[in-house]
Amino acid sequence: MITSLFTYWAGYVRDSVAHYRKLYPDARIIVGGVYASLMPDHCKKYTKCDEVFVGVHKGAEKSFPAYDLIENNPHPLDYQIVRTSRGCIRNCEFCGVKKIESRFKANANIKTEIIHRKLVFYDDNLLANPHIQKILSELIELKSKKQILWCEAQSGFDGKILKEKPYLAEMIKKAGFHYPRIAWDWGYEQHHEIKEQLDLLIDAGYRSKDLFVFMLYNWDIPFGEMERKRLKCWEWQVQIADCRYRPLDKIYDGYDSKKRKQTGREYHIQKESGWTDKLIRTFRSNVRKQNICLRQNTKYYSADMERKRISKDMTNEYKKLSYEEAKGYLKDAWNPAVIHYT
Ligand code: SF4
Repeated sequence: MITSLFTYWAGYVRDSVAHYRKLYPDARIIVGGVYASLMPDHCKKYTKCDEVFVGVHKGAEKSFPAYDLIENNPHPLDYQIVRTSRGCIRNCEFCGVKKIESRFKANANIKTEIIHRKLVFYDDNLLANPHIQKILSELIELKSKKQILWCEAQSGFDGKILKEKPYLAEMIKKAGFHYPRIAWDWGYEQHHEIKEQLDLLIDAGYRSKDLFVFMLYNWDIPFGEMERKRLKCWEWQVQIADCRYRPLDKIYDGYDSKKRKQTGREYHIQKESGWTDKLIRTFRSNVRKQNICLRQNTKYYSADMERKRISKDMTNEYKKLSYEEAKGYLKDAWNPAVIHYT
């Protein structure tokens, strides 16, 4: 049995099937996982496997990841992946979770599963777990006994649930979740709502620059509106975790951040919403520069400063300047507070 991840990594799945077919010519090869569940017919033909498994496999679900395989590695994992639930209570149109894990299933406790001191939660919607209060209480207890160091929720927190149950924000902080993320996938007009969700986390003790807002770009929201959303995050002084949209049935993604120019034949460009290769690269770059400003406590970005082409002493002096002051000294000073089309 071979699993598969995102559809645009289908080529690796095909290679894995070919590899094991060669090693074990008589074996019956079954492919499951994300790509297999989203595109079963394509997966069967493309990978030449014997069978495709759609959905969550009960047997695989009960198997604990084989951490021992990497424990003797020079860089062994010092964290553990944990899941308290499968599926999601929502059904966002760009997301494949409902198709893969159609039923939302949740566990009531996870204490017995914990073997490492750093935990990364892979739940699609951790706060939707009806037992979340109990789980967070368990984590708070483990944290107070120093049995765990920190936690992270890979998919971010559902801000709507946070609004309905504001007491969860403090529990999240006490349980040691670092760099919490809130999704803002829809339009600019949602900004009041997003700000209220972020404020709950700030009131719970987080610094604004340690919070992230997830943003899907190269999707139905045009570049100009995405830039206005970026400016709001600058105003709130929170970082952005940007995610480039790829349709659920794309089997390739040749986007290369090092290239200056690429076409829609190499990767998906959402042309219907006005996105172009240039705008995609510009938005990515704007977000990156803005996040650097936040992390370094500066009012502007400069590549010369980032690449240490300026002495440390001068950099420390320049860092105190506003954008208006800095642009007199630094030719490449970039102002995060305005929209940039290039
Ligand atoms: S909330 Fe997240 S996991 Fe749930 S459907 Fe939307 S994008 Fe997918």
